[in-house]
Amino acid sequence: MDILEATPEILSETLKKGGFPRFRAQQVCEWIFTKRVVELDKMSNLPAPLKAYLREQFTWQLPEVVHTLTSDDDGTTKLLLRSKDQRVFETVIMRYPKRTTICVSSEIGCKLACSFCQTGKLGFFRHLSAHEILAQFHLAQSILGDRPITHVVFMGMGEPFLNYDAVLRATNRLISPEGYGLSSRRVTVSTSGIPERIIDFSRDSTARLAISLHAARDEVRTSLMPINRKYPLATLKNALQVYQTATGQKLTIEYILIQNVNTSIADAKALVQFLQGLKAKVNLIPFNAHPGLAYERAEEPEILAFQQYLSTRSIPAPVRYSRGLTVSGGCGQLAAKTEAQLEETPARKNVVAS
Ligand code: SAH
Ligand code: SF4
Repeated sequence: MDILEATPEILSETLKKGGFPRFRAQQVCEWIFTKRVVELDKMSNLPAPLKAYLREQFTWQLPEVVHTLTSDDDGTTKLLLRSKDQRVFETVIMRYPKRTTICVSSEIGCKLACSFCQTGKLGFFRHLSAHEILAQFHLAQSILGDRPITHVVFMGMGEPFLNYDAVLRATNRLISPEGYGLSSRRVTVSTSGIPERIIDFSRDSTARLAISLHAARDEVRTSLMPINRKYPLATLKNALQVYQTATGQKLTIEYILIQNVNTSIADAKALVQFLQGLKAKVNLIPFNAHPGLAYERAEEPEILAFQQYLSTRSIPAPVRYSRGLTVSGGCGQLAAKTEAQLEETPARKNVVAS
């Protein structure tokens, strides 16, 4: 078993089987979950026979950090990771004055092929395991050193709800007081909207939910997000209502603003209607344009008019500019590049390993 798949219970059982006293399991848990250290060599208070036993019982290999890219303007660092089977995926660190957020990937690529998304353009390779998801947390933490990660968002590559079991294991471990002990308010899963999974999530997790809506008219949403054909807006809304009845939690609605695509008054009106009966806050995200994608970022007046329409109807909708643009901070942009293109990136680049 990969070490980060192990729950505190599995760790205690395993140590018990090996004949080690109970406090040793507590020490191992403290290293992994409290100190966020996952290298046996650094676990200084464990005796050599215990380390040897743990080495034999678990696999300790983490993905390799191939590159880190730090943006000079806003403290965003992007990690390009390579899995055991030589696939690349990414994690982003965002440093704010009072918090440190990491954005983790849940899959390598994505099946859902949203037309505005670089990850969608990559196609799908495979799911990440809970070990590989939690490894992103540890690798980011080791880059951050003494600065603790305070928030985790599942907004990297992939659709978390198409890799439900692994994502659930990872979020539950992040939130559990016996695990990493983050507050539920600080772990957010973003989904393009898989109704059954939204309902399952209301029962299985206390983590927060964000929905990538991006349009509230079916024809527009289907043109951006093919998943909308299978699960149209009415079905999605129904699942969100079930979720809210069960959890009482507020949702975050993400809405990318793409020039002349989803920013008309008719779109704003449809959004207001969609939000009726839901407790939600809306984040408006100016689209990050990429070469090869047919869309453009909405212009400032277009953004403001859309926002104004919402605010006059008592829907606060802050505009969130993506961070780390100079390091291709948006979803799936880094791993979509070849290593040769990475060499040309204007941002400062630190080669950690080759
Ligand atoms: N698959 C999940 C989570 C990963 S995507 C989802 O779709 O919610 C994380 C966020 O980045 C989503 O809201 C997605 O719509 C957004 N995103 C993707 N491409 C983008 C782009 N070019 N500009 C701005 N946001 C983008
Ligand atoms: Fe997949 Fe999310 Fe990108 Fe759509 S926006 S292709 S669901 S990662």
